[in-house]
Amino acid sequence: MSASSEQFLALRVAEIGKGEFTGEISERTVGQLPAGELLVDVHYSSLNYKDALSAQGNRAVTREYPHTPGIDAAGTVLADASGRFQAGDPVIVCGYDLGMNTDGGLAQRIRVPTAWACRCPAGLSLRQAMVYGTAGFTAALCIEKLQRMAAAPGDGDVAVTGASGGVGSFSIALLHHLGFTVAALTGKLEHTEMLVRLGARQVIDRDTLQEVVNKPLAKPRWAHAIDSVGGDYLFSVLKSIRYGGSVAACGLAASAALSGNVFPFILRNVNLLGVDSVELPLAQKQRVWERLAGEWKLPQLESMVEEISLAQTPEYLTRIYNGHAVGRYLVSLRG
Ligand code: NDP
Repeated sequence: MSASSEQFLALRVAEIGKGEFTGEISERTVGQLPAGELLVDVHYSSLNYKDALSAQGNRAVTREYPHTPGIDAAGTVLADASGRFQAGDPVIVCGYDLGMNTDGGLAQRIRVPTAWACRCPAGLSLRQAMVYGTAGFTAALCIEKLQRMAAAPGDGDVAVTGASGGVGSFSIALLHHLGFTVAALTGKLEHTEMLVRLGARQVIDRDTLQEVVNKPLAKPRWAHAIDSVGGDYLFSVLKSIRYGGSVAACGLAASAALSGNVFPFILRNVNLLGVDSVELPLAQKQRVWERLAGEWKLPQLESMVEEISLAQTPEYLTRIYNGHAVGRYLVSLRG
């Protein structure tokens, strides 16, 4: 059998009617993968909100179907035509076009440009890399951005929105690990115990943010914030940040809209910081992975994830899309 006719399993999302999409596990061959120098035997992937959008047929994420979602993957190199990696090297691929318009990590094989791959650092297994996945990686970027604005543990509570989600739960755990105190804002108060276990000092019903939606400014409550929800939530958080604080904004789980006023910026000296994990230069990605494998490595990583099989991904992606997900889902591609 030639290398290109080797078969593997992948999630394939197809449009079955106008605007109606469905995902199923299909057999594919390596020859059907997009061109690229690096062929990877994927051991683990994870589920992210963007995968849920892709699986629902969101054309802003994925233009052409059938398609394999999966914006991150960790595995071992099978072949690298660029010569940068040797067969067997452990690598992490996250972001760039993986899982968007390039077949993604919810498959036993990916083929991508070598320039998209980080070496999986010593101190981090492939499994642990995908326990963090894009969500944990993005949470780390948000914290680094806050730190660049001199945020420090003694400043006071850091608010985290979308607290029970992937980025939210890792933001809580990493902030706590680094000595910050955290106020978790969630729509799922029934998961308060889990959020406290992750490190939240306080768990707050996210609806309380609605109370300040129409006010020009709100009572200053939090030193800083990490927001993965967007829309009115982001604006209400900005209005509630203390003088000189910073908000790292990375997501749009509620809305991509940004409306409001400039009072937090011009009266309270508040900083709104953008965070992108996708197009970040590779050298910076590598540095963040090294950090997550080293001084920022969470002791409770294993307990932060639910492992699922490739066959379960369609059901769980729907759950994420509907906002019913809790924490992180690790996908094992190992059989
Ligand atoms: P999840 O689906 O895991 O978590 C999102 C959380 O947001 C939910 O668990 C829920 O938390 C809250 N939420 C969901 N829907 C709503 C809603 N309608 N109104 C208010 N809150 C809501 O997603 P991720 O954590 O993986 O991603 C979060 C966001 O960050 C997404 O928009 C994603 O695209 C973005 N992202 C951006 C990255 C970047 O590079 N900038 C990288 C990774 C993610 P709760 O119930 O606790 O309030």
